[in-house]
Amino acid sequence: MTGGRTSPAGRVFLAKGRDRSVRRFHPWIFSGAVAKAEGDPSPGALVEVMSSEGELLGLGQWSPASQIRVRMVAFGENPRFSCRERVAAAIERRRPILVPGRTDAARLVNAESDGLPGVIADIYAGWVVCQFNSAGAAAAADEIADAIREAVSPEGIVERSDSSVLRLEGLEPRERRISGGEVPERLRIVENGVSFFVDIRRGHKTGFYLDQRDARRTVGAFANGADVLNCFSYTGGFGLFARQCGALSVVQVDASAEALALAKRNEGLTHLCGTTMTYEEADVFQYLRACRDRGRTFDLVVLDPPKFASVRSQVAKAARGYKDINLLAMKLLRPNGVLATFSCSGAMTPAFFDTVLAEAAEDAKRDFQVVARTCQAEDHPVALSFPEGAYLKGVILRALQ
Ligand code: SAH
Repeated sequence: MTGGRTSPAGRVFLAKGRDRSVRRFHPWIFSGAVAKAEGDPSPGALVEVMSSEGELLGLGQWSPASQIRVRMVAFGENPRFSCRERVAAAIERRRPILVPGRTDAARLVNAESDGLPGVIADIYAGWVVCQFNSAGAAAAADEIADAIREAVSPEGIVERSDSSVLRLEGLEPRERRISGGEVPERLRIVENGVSFFVDIRRGHKTGFYLDQRDARRTVGAFANGADVLNCFSYTGGFGLFARQCGALSVVQVDASAEALALAKRNEGLTHLCGTTMTYEEADVFQYLRACRDRGRTFDLVVLDPPKFASVRSQVAKAARGYKDINLLAMKLLRPNGVLATFSCSGAMTPAFFDTVLAEAAEDAKRDFQVVARTCQAEDHPVALSFPEGAYLKGVILRALQ
């Protein structure tokens, strides 16, 4: 290794005719596309990727246990890869988001779409939480942590690699402190002027749903004077933005008592009065039915459920779940009421999500207009060559009567 650059430890030859996706900058090479590997590279090592004719196509990271056998990190006949430079560049691109006093939590590195396959790094008020979800990412973990330290001088860095994809890579889940002192039980972050406690040790994902930052603000704009039902509230995100924007009342519904406990504490962080806040520990499917049966109505309903489908084969079943909650929510809306509805299942395309919503509207016997659409926030970019990186979509609908 010299100057932060690693030299290739082997060579991988693609099968005949399997070079198309690499030439289009797609980062994944599946096992079936690999004809042979030379040099016995270790898991995560850098390899030269060659066409069947022996042309150098770029550099990738070797994942012998995974169906995704190579993850490309550089393309062309003069490929160049430095983890350190990639991390520094990704962090530099986030500078405009991290405005002191306004927003201090963001995704610093978004894996393939930032040219660092399998690497996630999120910053929360000076603490960085990393996930190394591929063999290449795991092999480069220390170098990546060094680069993060250099770029943001964090209070500390922790690893929380606990995602289900680890097993597919032949990796074990790993939780550890990479640098810094005792990890605080709760960190206080600020997002667009609204404060939240985040539990980076045990919270969902790396602690907070940073990907919904823009959507929380967009939805807030519909909350002035509204009675709001925030379903799948987690630690209160959409509800607290609604309150900030002048909601009359907010009901936060989540099945997790722990998430709601934090939501309640978050309420006290920003001093505002006038909004009635209530918390319901309940299953949203049942809660929506109970509201329907009691004739409760709202001006704004938010539906931000967990992933209902992780693979394409689950999409049909997931569609039923999405249709069910959306149909119920549509029935609870007052005239001109707004439904902000999301899907974070990558396997469900935006077009299919629209179809599900149209079917729900038909069954609810109500017509709607789309007033806004949202996607994952800009610190969760999607490389043009890597549409697999897009997963989050939101549709904001207004009832026409
Ligand atoms: N909107 C949130 C993120 C929601 S994450 C934000 O802006 O931060 C999804 C949440 O749904 C989790 O908190 C999880 O506890 C909750 N959840 C999952 N299944 C549920 C169900 N059937 N009923 C109620 N809550 C559920």
